[in-house]
Amino acid sequence: MVITIDGAAGVGKTSTAKEVAKKLGFQYFDTGSMYRAVTLHFLEKKVDFFSDSEIEKALDTMELKIDFSEKNNMKLLLDGIDISLKIRNHNVTKNVSAVSAIKSVRTLMVNIQRSVTENGNFVVEGRDIGTVVFPDAKHKFFLEADYDARAKRRMADFIKINEVININEIKKDLIERDKYDSNRKLSPLKKPTDAISINTSHCSFEEQVIQILKHIESKDERN
Ligand code: C5P
Repeated sequence: MVITIDGAAGVGKTSTAKEVAKKLGFQYFDTGSMYRAVTLHFLEKKVDFFSDSEIEKALDTMELKIDFSEKNNMKLLLDGIDISLKIRNHNVTKNVSAVSAIKSVRTLMVNIQRSVTENGNFVVEGRDIGTVVFPDAKHKFFLEADYDARAKRRMADFIKINEVININEIKKDLIERDKYDSNRKLSPLKKPTDAISINTSHCSFEEQVIQILKHIESKDERN
């Protein structure tokens, strides 16, 4: 079974998805990190994002592995190396929207996402999870928050990896990324019509998790 949690950057998807997965005994699955991994690969191989042949070659030679062996965590290995931290850097963050708008990249990622979740229970977070990847999922959530709250969360993420970025720059990046992610032709970021919306601007992490668990429980009781 798959529970989907979609939303823009910094709305609190990761921490919420992890905790919901933990509480339910499900595996946590972050699809954004996959697009980040492809971006890192393209940057390292100096792929021209506008060249179909370069993209095709880079995707063919990419050795991306998802490691779910740690409970409530997901690691990504690129060519055998754990890149979980590296994919959070500012350069990857700046380029990921452009890479995730490429059709062949999305097709490959969605195929992987569907196949790895085939047998098991997952809380999957992303942008198009409830709309495109798992449109038939029973439980779908869409998280939202204002730009101030989101920028603060992202700043804390950068501090964790020792990158100091000005909060206004983070806000600018978020606005640009939203514009790009929401307006792209393929699988744009949008709320699934049948998802429950949760605004996380002024709600504590615990409250977010409780809201989600309550919705799941009450829907499961009804059918
Ligand atoms: O969630 P995170 O901020 O790590 O996602 C990085 C980027 O990956 C997003 O800005 C978006 O461009 C892309 N993405 C996507 N579809 C998903 C998850 C992420 O296009 N399901």
